Parts: sequence; C-alpha cells; structure tokens
Amino acid sequence: MEIQFVDLKQQYLDHQAEIDEAIRRVILECQFIRGRYVEQFEKAFASANHMRNCVSLANGTDALFITLKMLGIGLGDEVITTANTWIASSETITLAGARPVFVDVDPNTYNLDASKIEAAVTPRTKAIIPVHLYGQMADMDTILALASRLHLQVVEDCAQAHFATFNNRLAGTFGVAAAFSFYPGKNLGAYGDAGCVLTNDDTLASKVRMFANHGSLKKHEHEIEGMNSRMDGLQASILLAKLPYIHTWNQQRTANAHLYTSKLVKIPQVTPPLIHPQCGHVFHVYCIRCENRDGLKAHLASRNIPTMTHYPRPLPFTKAYEYLGHTPADFPVAYRYHKEILSLPMCPELTEEQIDYIVQSIESFYRGT
Ligand SMILES: *Cc1c(COP(=O)(O)O)cnc(C)c1O
Repeated sequence: MEIQFVDLKQQYLDHQAEIDEAIRRVILECQFIRGRYVEQFEKAFASANHMRNCVSLANGTDALFITLKMLGIGLGDEVITTANTWIASSETITLAGARPVFVDVDPNTYNLDASKIEAAVTPRTKAIIPVHLYGQMADMDTILALASRLHLQVVEDCAQAHFATFNNRLAGTFGVAAAFSFYPGKNLGAYGDAGCVLTNDDTLASKVRMFANHGSLKKHEHEIEGMNSRMDGLQASILLAKLPYIHTWNQQRTANAHLYTSKLVKIPQVTPPLIHPQCGHVFHVYCIRCENRDGLKAHLASRNIPTMTHYPRPLPFTKAYEYLGHTPADFPVAYRYHKEILSLPMCPELTEEQIDYIVQSIESFYRGT
C-alpha cells in the first residue's frame, strides 16, 4: 500500500479541470501580479470568514511579521508565544525588532497554556501570538480576557487552522489581526508560497497592504519604505478554485481523525489527540503521543508509512534560541512531549483502508511482531 503524508497529487487529480482552468486564465489574461484574481480571492476569503479585510501576501511568515511591524511592535518590546510551534511564529517577533518570550504548552491540547501567560508578562510585553496548533484553537476566552485586562494586542497565528472554531466562532476573528498561510500542505494550500492577513481594523489593513507593496497604495507614491510581499495571481486563482471545497476537506479530515481515534484508543501505549469541547478542530495535523516514539516511527517507515514530528524540538531548545538560556524546567510539558509526539498521515484523501493499515501497523509494533 502506498501512503502519502499529505496527498496533494490526489487532491489535484480530483479537481484537475478546475485547477487547470484557473491557471490557464491567469496566463492568458496576464494577471500575474495583483490584478483581478488577487482581488477576487481577497474578497472571497474575507467574506468566507465574515471579516472586513483580507490582505493577500507572499506567505504566512510575512503576514505575521508585517502585522507586528504595522502594530508598531519593535525594539524594546516583548511578544509572547508558545514553546511548541513552527519557528515563523517567533522569528517574526525578532524580525520586527522585539524579543520573543516563550510559554509552555497545555498538557491536553498542546496549545499555548493560557494559565501560564500572565507569569511571562512584563512591562515590556506588547502582544500575544496564540498559535492554533494542529488545527485546534488555543483557549481564546482566557487569552482575550487577559489581553484586555493587561492591554495587550492579540495576533492569531492561523497558519494551521483555516475555518477552525472556538465557541462556534471562526479562527482569525478574535484578535486585532490574524495571519494565515497557504503553503501547499496547509488545509487550504496554494501551489507555492502564499499567505494573508485578516483584520477588521481598516487602518491596520491599509498599513499592511502598503508595507507589503513598497510602502505605496498608489504606484510610485511611496509613503513609507516597505517590502515586496505580494501574493501571485497564479496562487490567488488556484486558491479561488480550491476555496469552495475547504469545508468538505475539513470535514473529511475530521472524519479521518475520528476513525483513527476510534481505533487507536484500544492501544494503551498511544494517546490520541483530545478535542477540546469548545473547539471545532480541523486536523491540519493528527498528532498522537506514544511510547517508544522513535521505534514506532522506524517501524512505520519500514511499512512505507510516512510520519513527522511537529516539532522535533520545542523552539527554546533549538540553536536559534540558545541565547535565551532556557532549561527543560522552564517548559516541562513541551519538553516531555517532544519525545512522545508523532504526526500520522492526515489529509482529506486518506482512505479507511489506509487508516486501517496504519493502525494495524501501530498495533503490530507494540505486539512486537
Ligand atoms: C506554516 C506556518 C507558518 C508560516 O507560513 P508560511 O506560509 O510557510 O510562511 C506560521 N506559523 C505556523 C504555525 C505555521 O504552521
């Protein structure tokens, strides 16, 4: 049996005619940079999320960086984020000129532990970046209450959480702004890099748009210095073709997750992911915790089952953040979990037969056969 970690080829084959047509149109109409498909996608994505503004950008990392920068966050400021995330969540804090401050993860959801945020706040703290990791939203009730009491901005990292919900409210609609990534493997993925910012703050949207286009809203009128971070017309057109399917795809991911979990609960060495009762989980990643993780990973690899670790090291223990001088005692949960977590293949196209094969292979590992 052949199993992909994420089967982007199958997704393309399932929608080939529409995607080919979306690409063809851009080339024939020469809508490569900005233009109608970029505008249409911005409108469609904003409206699908019930938000006033979507500013399309070159990638999700820029979405975080530019948002922080346009919020005026920089030298001397601190921004809090989670110890277990992709480095884009924290390197953009540094890139904006501020200092990243890591907080440990919740033992059940693996998201930023909201109860530990306040202890990390100092007079220099300006913002919190909750990351809705693996497709499940962080505890936004606690985070928003804390942020409002301490006058902190909340910038949501929604790169893994397109259309996830918390209290039936969509990811990206809670903070002052939200960063999305459309990296190919994300729940809504382009065929290259792409990202966007969602915000109901018109002034912030306009600043982000300006900064991402050389500091100008009108050609050759540079109000500030900025950068080039635009979404390609090709990516916008592909995303427009894919957007109508995102809810179906998210449902298929969730159904696959339920199928995995219903089978994995019978294996005592495995802890399947927990769905928080306030959350609509969109399962960007299906992450289990397990005994002898590296042994299981090798066993699955020998049966042609690809797995990944999100992430191999909590960020404070990477070389990039050695200078912060952290020890495992600073992030006990993230530290303990990084040796136990394993992400199994997850995508809408995964079949029941494949899930059966993966679970049987996990069983056979712990049986020792
Ligand atoms: C993918 C990702 C990003 C960055 O997105 P890019 O489009 O790859 O720049 C940021 N944060 C998290 C949590 C991600 O998973």
